[in-house]
Amino acid sequence: MWNPFGVLSLSKRTILEDVASEVKVCTKCALWKTRKNAVLGEGSPHAQVMFVGEALGYWEDVKGRPFVGAAGKFLDMLLAEAGLSRGEVFICNVLKCRPPGNREPLPSEIQTCTPYLDRQIKVIEPKLIVTLGNHSTAYIFSKAGLPFNGITQTRGKFYQVNVLCLAVTVFPTFHPAAGLYSTKYKQLLTEDFKLLKTKIREMEPILG
Ligand code: URA
Ligand code: SF4
Repeated sequence: MWNPFGVLSLSKRTILEDVASEVKVCTKCALWKTRKNAVLGEGSPHAQVMFVGEALGYWEDVKGRPFVGAAGKFLDMLLAEAGLSRGEVFICNVLKCRPPGNREPLPSEIQTCTPYLDRQIKVIEPKLIVTLGNHSTAYIFSKAGLPFNGITQTRGKFYQVNVLCLAVTVFPTFHPAAGLYSTKYKQLLTEDFKLLKTKIREMEPILG
């Protein structure tokens, strides 16, 4: 794509593909030793809505795609209820590799890996970031300069903030995996995605 200055500028897709190739061979933290695949994320490079999960699980590591296990199936249902398809949003994670045994990410792993997430956000320039669970919300809140008091306190509300010099709305909700083992969380997630649907409809003139 040519800009008015006659300088070749790379498309969002090309930049994301470059970051994805770096991630695939990344050895910056110890998780590379036990992974099968590292996954930058998936979806439209022009997505207005971005979903940020925690880290790959077993099936994501095997298949090299985000949210394709049981939690992913539930996320697909929630997306459908909100009138969204995978192709029009972008789905990614805080960590691009799987922690062994699906243990929680370590603070050092988050610190080492999140420059990739930052680059992704800056390229995609989403209007809305939906954070799924504690780790994702804590990270995005830290970038927004907001205090984080746990997902239960923060979920289900829209926060108008600046993240990496972008004006965005952040919407925290539970991780979809929480909805698999508790009907209470399942119900709350369903309610949150209804709010999301309404918000996206309101934002549509902006989202285009
Ligand atoms: N859980 C996550 O946080 N991300 C995935 O991609 C799958 C499960
Ligand atoms: Fe690199 Fe992130 Fe994977 Fe660690 S988790 S090896 S920093 S891509």
